Amino acid sequence: MDDALIIVGAGHAGGRAALTLREEGYAGRLILIGDEPHLPYERPPLSKGVLQGTADLAGCSLFDNARLAELGIEHSANNLVSRLDPQHQRLQLADGQWLPYAGLLLATGGRARRLPWEAPNIVYLRTHDEALALRGALRPGTRLVIVGGGFIGLEVAASARSLGCEVTVLEAGPRLAGRVLPPVISAALLDLHRRQGVDVRLNVVLETINADAVLLVDGERLACDLVVVGIGMQPNLELAAAAGLDVGQGIRVDAYLRTSAPYVYAAGDVCEFRLGGLYQRQETWRNAEAQGRHAALNMLGRELPFEAIPGFWSDQFDWGVQTVGVMTPLMVSRPLPDGGLLLFYLDADRRLQGACGWAMGSRAAKDIKLCERLITAAIPLSEASLADPDLSLKHLLRGRYAPISGVPIPVGHANRAGPP
Ligand SMILES: Cc1cc2nc3c(=O)[nH]c(=O)nc-3n(C[C@H](O)[C@H](O)[C@H](O)COP(=O)(O)OP(=O)(O)OC[C@H]3O[C@@H](n4cnc5c(N)ncnc54)[C@H](O)[C@@H]3O)c2cc1C
Repeated sequence: MDDALIIVGAGHAGGRAALTLREEGYAGRLILIGDEPHLPYERPPLSKGVLQGTADLAGCSLFDNARLAELGIEHSANNLVSRLDPQHQRLQLADGQWLPYAGLLLATGGRARRLPWEAPNIVYLRTHDEALALRGALRPGTRLVIVGGGFIGLEVAASARSLGCEVTVLEAGPRLAGRVLPPVISAALLDLHRRQGVDVRLNVVLETINADAVLLVDGERLACDLVVVGIGMQPNLELAAAAGLDVGQGIRVDAYLRTSAPYVYAAGDVCEFRLGGLYQRQETWRNAEAQGRHAALNMLGRELPFEAIPGFWSDQFDWGVQTVGVMTPLMVSRPLPDGGLLLFYLDADRRLQGACGWAMGSRAAKDIKLCERLITAAIPLSEASLADPDLSLKHLLRGRYAPISGVPIPVGHANRAGPP
């Protein structure tokens, strides 16, 4: 048996896994196969800096060719893995060639979910090449209709508006980014986009899209030059499903990111794992980063359960939203300067489970980091202290914790206001 470790999917999770394998001392053959023409890159700048012209592919890449050669990673670009044969520990490339593996990571990510209509002016945004093509079409005065008021749609709206385009956002639901954000942040996003001149419509039902317009069921016709569709993504799980691996909404893994097939792991957007007892996928930079690294460690025999705290961010105009942890029904709100907000989510014992920050630029980033530490600390917190904008979160951590060697150690439960 060839001792190669193979990674299918040269995206963020796949690229991070390859780097980790080498950094952790794996010296055997390492093959990274991807169907895109590029080295692994991060996608968040695609809807932001790449569209605005402030970021390029080199800046998004996880490593360059020199580093690839230095690390001895065999990168096979423009290559689609078409079949997986877990019984014989091998996979097949589109050209028919079979490759044996000792260990395999499936980091196949996802593709943009598509609308049922085809028209030359409909574009999707998942890859760097799609971002470049879209950027070329965004000029002052371009009439752009964006289908989908989720993160990608809203980020494209903000980027296009900053380039002088006329932008309309059509959202099927009653609020923006409603699947992942609390109503108060959806409302803030709506207000921001409308103030910036984006025509945002909610509860919209499309009739069809043709070459120069979007037609709504209420009879309205929105003339446009371009339609960007941002209605979510579909995980690339067909390879795993056809090979008989356990799949749900993604490729199912156990606590160690192992799929149901021996020596096969999964990570990133395509990976369905248990969080809080429920199977779910995370479509975030943070998850791709953490799981890519984690799967690599376990492929090297570490046997570490995956326990990372989830989180994501989005930047639109000069505002940013950032979350960490999970949202629970018990929410406490703290005002931030300039109309920003920090929301805390507590469990029944008043332990922090999650937080969501809305602020200018990256002003909420520090607070969100502190919230992550408070989540890990798992101490009861009073609602009054969380709501108090004059009480720094550092104080909450410090008041209860004596840092020893940089690791917070509980020193008791006395706090400023005490749990209610
Ligand atoms: C425009 C955009 C903006 C984003 N902004 C943010 C943000 O602000 N914050 C945030 O947290 N997250 C953001 N994300 C999400 C984040 O980028 C993804 O969660 C992350 O890229 C997932 O990484 P991945 O490696 O799992 O998948 P991907 O990056 O999709 O990589 C998977 C790769 O595998 C390839 N592949 C699939 N099947 C095969 C096969 N059979 N053979 C060979 N190759 C294959 C795919 O073509 C792809 O190159 C954004 C995503 C997009 C698209």
